[in-house]
Amino acid sequence: MRKKIVAGNWKMNCDLGEMQELLTGIKNQLKNIPDTVSLMVAPAYTNLYAAFETLKETPVEVVAQNMHQEKNGAFTGEISAAMLKGIGVQTVILGHSERRSIFNENNQLLKEKVQTALDNNMQVIFCIGEELESREENKQFNVVKQQLEEALFTLPEKAWQNIILAYEPVWAIGTGKTASPEQAQEMHAFIREQIAEKYNSEIADAVSILYGGSVKPANAKEIFSQTDVDGGLVGGAALKADSFVEIALAFQN
Ligand code: PEP
Repeated sequence: MRKKIVAGNWKMNCDLGEMQELLTGIKNQLKNIPDTVSLMVAPAYTNLYAAFETLKETPVEVVAQNMHQEKNGAFTGEISAAMLKGIGVQTVILGHSERRSIFNENNQLLKEKVQTALDNNMQVIFCIGEELESREENKQFNVVKQQLEEALFTLPEKAWQNIILAYEPVWAIGTGKTASPEQAQEMHAFIREQIAEKYNSEIADAVSILYGGSVKPANAKEIFSQTDVDGGLVGGAALKADSFVEIALAFQN
């Protein structure tokens, strides 16, 4: 059975006090969330340690939003895998569309980052997805296939145990526009098919594929009910404890 996951990507939001308030709100409602759903939160670097300490006794996992590909060295402003591991972080989001478009991270660089994370026994939430222009030109499948091929398809089979995918159509991120449940299912099935063709169906069936792009309480249930959708990577709606928890509960109903 694939893991069902709801992960909150808080981006560059929440100072320490705001984050603690958000975490308290989530913690207070944890008893309502079935243990078949894994919850993850991705605070900014400066809040990772505090989040880890606050959530220590809970099943909520604290994950990082990014990391550098090198082990250490003269990379002012960057954070290494070992630094993340040192405070207990086991999972990192890589390839988010904001990293790709604003910080010019391409598939080649992301491939290196994935390798570094795996070398450090970390789990990766790897984001893929097309921009609006590609969707309008009906090139979304080519784009996603290329992202998979260039960043992930040189990995050995066993590495896939530590990969979670997040399909995030860029035109749906922070825009209020959501892919329809059918569009999400179609792409998730396509992704699974590509993995099955490159590797095998056991690996394809075992990998969790999250959907991301304006997921909110009102649409989560329909999106999560699709056969190949295993949860969500949530931005805006994860910044309020109630809506984040409500999204996690969408699996239950
Ligand atoms: C995201 O940033 O990964 C995301 C999906 O954001 P939002 O939910 O706000 O669209």
